[in-house]
Amino acid sequence: MKLEDHIRTIPDHPKPGIMFRDVTTLMAAPEAFAETIRRLAEPYSGKVDAVAGIEARGFIFGAPVAVALGVGFIPLRKPGKLPYATSSVEYELEYGTDALHMHTDACGHPDRVLVIDDLIATGGTALAAIKLLRDAGAVVEHAAFVVDLPDLPGAGRLREAGVEVRALCA
Ligand code: IMP
Repeated sequence: MKLEDHIRTIPDHPKPGIMFRDVTTLMAAPEAFAETIRRLAEPYSGKVDAVAGIEARGFIFGAPVAVALGVGFIPLRKPGKLPYATSSVEYELEYGTDALHMHTDACGHPDRVLVIDDLIATGGTALAAIKLLRDAGAVVEHAAFVVDLPDLPGAGRLREAGVEVRALCA
């Protein structure tokens, strides 16, 4: 099954010149969505202790991957969303900064954590997630994405940080 066929591209979203890869059409196609979860999870069976998903589309793919692997799910969230004590990391956006938060008791030491998001572009978001998890004592050796934008350096940056990267489509 070609998962690419279920992902549409929206020109000029959220601003002119950006070709936005819209994965909501993939989520809406039940067989393609199930196949996506199978392919994301399969390489990591027995190899990780938890899955961390990045808000918000990383939750939609990451939570079923955690269930498929029989491990727990760690939500990495935007500021102000998590109710308990959090640790956080700031990261650069094209304009300004953003931050990810995680509950301070979200992962054990040294849990092996798989990072999941829908898409990797520059890698800034995923690198921030990896730093947050590693600072909390997690071992992060794997990250998986539905889409890797091949013209952008994200996957290479993660590999330089010692993380093996898999993506289902380009
Ligand atoms: P990066 O930090 O530059 O790698 O951007 C990746 C983050 O931005 C991920 O959390 C994605 O959900 C989001 N993102 C960037 N571009 C797109 C896109 O074309 N489609 C869906 N999400 C995107």
